[in-house]
Amino acid sequence: MIAARRPSWQIELAQAYRNPAALLRDLELPIDSTRVEEHANACFPMRVPRSYAARMRKGDAHDPLLRQVLPSREEGINRIDYSEDPVGDRAALRQPGLLQKYHGRALLLATNACAINCRYCFRRHLRRNTLVPQDHHLERALAYIKSHPTIREIILSGGDPLCLTDAKLTVLTASLREIAHVKRLRVHTRLPVVLPERVSDGLLRWLSGQPWQLVLVLHVNHANEIAAEVVAALARLRAARVTLLNQSVLLKGVNDSLSALAELSEALFAAGVLPYYLHLLDRVQGASHFAVPASQARLLMHELRRELPGYLVPRLVQEAAGLPYKLPL
Ligand SMILES: *Cc1c(COP(=O)(O)O)cnc(C)c1O
Ligand code: SF4
Repeated sequence: MIAARRPSWQIELAQAYRNPAALLRDLELPIDSTRVEEHANACFPMRVPRSYAARMRKGDAHDPLLRQVLPSREEGINRIDYSEDPVGDRAALRQPGLLQKYHGRALLLATNACAINCRYCFRRHLRRNTLVPQDHHLERALAYIKSHPTIREIILSGGDPLCLTDAKLTVLTASLREIAHVKRLRVHTRLPVVLPERVSDGLLRWLSGQPWQLVLVLHVNHANEIAAEVVAALARLRAARVTLLNQSVLLKGVNDSLSALAELSEALFAAGVLPYYLHLLDRVQGASHFAVPASQARLLMHELRRELPGYLVPRLVQEAAGLPYKLPL
């Protein structure tokens, strides 16, 4: 009998850094250089896969990858113009775990889990409570999709849907395949970037076995995230005929410069990925230190257009509750 072995990506995930002091020590940074806020840590814990941390520059307290994941004191700042549900997800919930804001597309919150906890995450408060359904709620989400023939595209999101096992993903898509008006499957995921081992043979088999056109929207904010092992994982996805797009968040101290944005677009395209959206930060409580003003964002876009071919310039958008699409700026 062959013993069931945990896939390597799950082992890698279990070994992720969860202790800020351990991460700082391995980066050869003084532990007190960034005062780690206990509170932020408690309600939205740190989580950083080791291969992602390996792309950070040792000894650089301002490393753009480190800034995305290290809890900071500033998360305790409370702002009245920030909220726990900045883009109206609660109001857009049609069934437990199913959001529909836009025509023709429905978004399934397939899991709460993520491989990494981005400090600016717009669902950082929603993920820990009731937005994501239990298994038995899936029936209702599917029934909703079935009874709405205008829904042509299903978006798997979360959390990160690729945190689900291949077996669970297979069950999910088997149910979706019974709905004739579903024509496209989109997956919103950061896993091929933060945990490239996830692009396993099993995952590729799952993707290749689907009857639909597949779109994978990645989440990369800085060129340094695109390490050699990420490029290799993306090549495997492209070989499986998956269209690769990227969405980024414009983040102060991470990618709020012309050079950072231009290098990101170039690195994405070199890896076969087209820039799709550049989001203005969603005003989620605890992330105000990442905000870049809209006026500066517009200026950056203007400079980016002068620098790059049009297809490498992402669309600058802002999401606002109740609008029929993400608002171009
Ligand atoms: C962002 C989002 C989508 C996808 O929008 P596109 O403009 O098609 O990329 C779909 N549903 C919800 C709820 C979203 O937040
Ligand atoms: S990967 Fe996405 S959902 Fe997960 S913590 Fe980061 S921003 Fe949030």
